[in-house]
Amino acid sequence: MVFLECLVWTAPARAQDDEGDRFLDGIGETALVARYVLNGNVEDSSRHNRHATLRGKTAAYVDDGQFGSVLSLPAGGGGYVEMPGQVLNGVDTVSVTGWVFVRSAEPRQRFFDFGRNTTANFFCTPIGSDAGKGYSARITSNGRAKEQGPLAPRIKTNRWVHLAVVLDAAKQTLSTYADGVRVGHATNVTLNLEKVLDRGNAAANHLYIGKSQGKTDSTINAKIHDFRIYSIALTDRQVAVIKKNALSGKDVVESGDKSQGESTPAKATVIASMPVVLGLVKVPDVAVETVVGHLPRLPYTIAGVYRDGVKGPKVRVIWPSPKDNSQVLQAGTYTVTGTLPGTDFLPKATVTVKAAPGAESAPRRTSVAFPLGQVLLNPDEKQRATALIKNRDKFILTLAKTDPDRFLYNFRDAFGQKQPEGVQPLGGWDSQTTRLRGHASGHYLSAIAQSYASTTYDAELRANFLQKMNYLIETLYDLSQKSGKPVQQGGKFNADPTAVPPGPDKTGFDSDLSKDGIRTDCWNWGKGFISAYPPDQFIMLEHGATYGGKNNQIWAPYYTLHKILAGLLDCYEVGGNKKALEIAQGMGLWVYQRLNLVPTATRIKMWNRYIAGEYGGMNEVMARLFRITEDPRFLKCAILFDNIDFFFGNAQRDHGLARNVDTIRGKHANQHIPQITGALETYQGTKDAQYYRVADNFWNICTHAYMYNIGGVAGAKNPNNAECFTGEPDTLFANGFARGGQNETCATYNLLKLSRQLFMFDPNGKYMDYYEQALYNHIVASVAEDNAGNTYHVPLNPGARKGFGNANMGGFTCCNGTALESSTKLQDSIYFKGVDDKALYVNLYVPSTVTWPERNVTVKQQTSFPYSDTTRLTVAGEGAFDIKVRVPRWATRGFFVKINGVEQTVDAVPGTYLNLGQTWKNHDTIELRMPLCFRLAPVMDRPNIASIFYGPVLLAAEESDPRTEWRSVTLNAADLGKSITGDPSTLRFKIGDVTLKPFHETYGRHSVYLDVTLE
Ligand SMILES: [Zn+2]
Repeated sequence: MVFLECLVWTAPARAQDDEGDRFLDGIGETALVARYVLNGNVEDSSRHNRHATLRGKTAAYVDDGQFGSVLSLPAGGGGYVEMPGQVLNGVDTVSVTGWVFVRSAEPRQRFFDFGRNTTANFFCTPIGSDAGKGYSARITSNGRAKEQGPLAPRIKTNRWVHLAVVLDAAKQTLSTYADGVRVGHATNVTLNLEKVLDRGNAAANHLYIGKSQGKTDSTINAKIHDFRIYSIALTDRQVAVIKKNALSGKDVVESGDKSQGESTPAKATVIASMPVVLGLVKVPDVAVETVVGHLPRLPYTIAGVYRDGVKGPKVRVIWPSPKDNSQVLQAGTYTVTGTLPGTDFLPKATVTVKAAPGAESAPRRTSVAFPLGQVLLNPDEKQRATALIKNRDKFILTLAKTDPDRFLYNFRDAFGQKQPEGVQPLGGWDSQTTRLRGHASGHYLSAIAQSYASTTYDAELRANFLQKMNYLIETLYDLSQKSGKPVQQGGKFNADPTAVPPGPDKTGFDSDLSKDGIRTDCWNWGKGFISAYPPDQFIMLEHGATYGGKNNQIWAPYYTLHKILAGLLDCYEVGGNKKALEIAQGMGLWVYQRLNLVPTATRIKMWNRYIAGEYGGMNEVMARLFRITEDPRFLKCAILFDNIDFFFGNAQRDHGLARNVDTIRGKHANQHIPQITGALETYQGTKDAQYYRVADNFWNICTHAYMYNIGGVAGAKNPNNAECFTGEPDTLFANGFARGGQNETCATYNLLKLSRQLFMFDPNGKYMDYYEQALYNHIVASVAEDNAGNTYHVPLNPGARKGFGNANMGGFTCCNGTALESSTKLQDSIYFKGVDDKALYVNLYVPSTVTWPERNVTVKQQTSFPYSDTTRLTVAGEGAFDIKVRVPRWATRGFFVKINGVEQTVDAVPGTYLNLGQTWKNHDTIELRMPLCFRLAPVMDRPNIASIFYGPVLLAAEESDPRTEWRSVTLNAADLGKSITGDPSTLRFKIGDVTLKPFHETYGRHSVYLDVTLE
């Protein structure tokens, strides 16, 4: 058997135009932890806004012939920079770079020193610790006895030198660079930041530039410029490029050079896949039909033929994925050839292209969710709180203690209003000068509305959330009423959203949100305007502004607005607050009036502009507004948000997702997924089948060709950005697993939302199979053990670890925002009902009670699933309605049904729903048993790299340290269970000395993908 050496690394993808600060020096911004340019302030110009503090009276900014304004820390002056203690939270591998102009050869001067004290720190001394020593970087634990790191000749003084220090935790190396050249390299560096920093208490960490942890050591005598921290191990070439670009004044992205990206994350031996070991002899050819213009849906898996009649698993086939629909423009027949990585099988598909039918079929919505308050989560059969209840309570109880005025701070600030006494602004991406401020407030509105609706089990909590919701809406309503209206009668104002002038004393529009720079002339902003900043960012986007931290740059104004509008609509639809709808309508019309004047070509450019044009689900909230109000302007506005290239291929609308062409390649995942839920909502309004196909095709491609086993996506090495889909489909191994991270948690939040909504149109088990997979293995797995902290990316590289943040809800990233929503509606998809109230869908096996007032029925589900393989449904009430239970796709060892204790003969097909019939009496019981078993889920382009599932639960191998290699295990191909021991009631297992446990119960290091040898 010939083993193909996998799919080759493909050429670097630059899928989106106008990239702004996406690739600083060719390195995806997701790897940049912090950047202090130090040209007049100590602000962090990365998107994290982890602003530092300048200490010492003599520290000053001076003019410099090389770099302009730079920070000067004079001799003996005690000047230094202190970064916030949490900057390195979650970081294992770290690179530090910066320019330094050391003025004296005094030893012990620290370029940087990160740690808790002098015996637990990571530091760099460009001159050396003693007169005779040289340039060194060190990591220490328990004092000098365990000091590790390389030594190089001391750097030259009285000139600028570019320094870089790279600590690769997985490879256990520590390297130093001077002027772009590696000068020191130590191996067997067993210490890492985990041993140096206090992960639980950020205040215990001292992160200094120019100062040592030693209280008596003198500070550096130097000038410093452009200090950066990365969360990846920079390569020799990347360090050289950073240095070179700074001197040439260019930001050169040298594409086409593999070393510019990352190397394959870890070595893996290509071995035979499970089908091959089980004796795969043939992969039958397939025949597929399509209609003119639409690429065919080729099957991702095919039933293989095995030696001696063995029943083996389906095989995963990789088909060519054309970038347009030129193959299917005429009726006829053609053949395509697929591959099975790791084998030389070449299955063929015969595609018949038929003439397009006259009218396209468009599905109708057949099921809907129950209101949140009608589904209660219960403890399991042993009265233990389930993972869902635990997460719900971490969030609900923390939310109950939040101060709504913090979430209103930036709104009041934008409108020039006084803050209530003692209120502090939020941090993170809602800090005062962050151009995304207000986004968390939008999520917060949704979370408060959902918490109010969900806490039907606790009157006190419910009252708390109702009060919060009403207070938030009253305040926002009052602010929105100030927009476009005179302050006093007869005063000046501009009510027209399309005629907003620049701010007072300004010649143009800018995104300056600083205390002295922000405009607060809300009377000029046009009627209905509401946001946590003035209208400028929206206007600048129309004028071509790119993403970035400068005053002529922007950060996704419509993204933030989507959160706010969705929050308002949730307060109206979920929370029942009518004023919230009024605010949303006002702002909706403001947006409509502006966009209606923007030419199509400009809109196409706007919505394709990286991050700047990220609009979340603006099309979704506009279509929702249409659904609620029936005002056609809102539906028209939803359509103005069509991402035409993405949906329809090009301005002529020739192909795209609507015709099953993969336009997902290399796109920013979370920028684009909400656009798809928006397309589906637009479909509901327009009944135009094109929008449905956009959503349906996207889901199909995304969850097969781009998905990791936890149900998440993105993490591309190519393009080099942890938040982008891989540059080509079906290449997760070749182009995914970026060191900078994968699986942005927001993206999965949005995929879950899309999946449940697609199910409402097409009750196909595949949507809820995905829902279950991603709910347990990503969303539930993304929350800290003892608090509401939660993840941004969830890295799946060997020995990786989850990083939890925002436990106290004081400083939000995007994912901290969606986490508020996810964990306050965990019950929302357990049951659906038919739109005609004639069917109950049991989608998920979770202990819970659903109340169905239209039927005067409640159904209680009692189970310990997934710690047991049975569940029992008890009906209270009576009537004639279908109960449709999901037969999970993983239930390959049978699905057994008892009704009132009597075993039923059923034809239960995994991946479908089973209708259990019609007439139900009070106290009727249904018992379902679905034996769980182990199964392997390989990466599509590297079949020996696979995860182990037990039923729906992804099992992670516990790790103690970062790793360079995938953890290898050997398993029995015919029956994995023969190689795995353990206790299904606790889901704790072992393969030899490797311990496996559910990923959703993993808080330390993990290996989710293993290098599997089958025998
Ligand atoms: Zn996010």
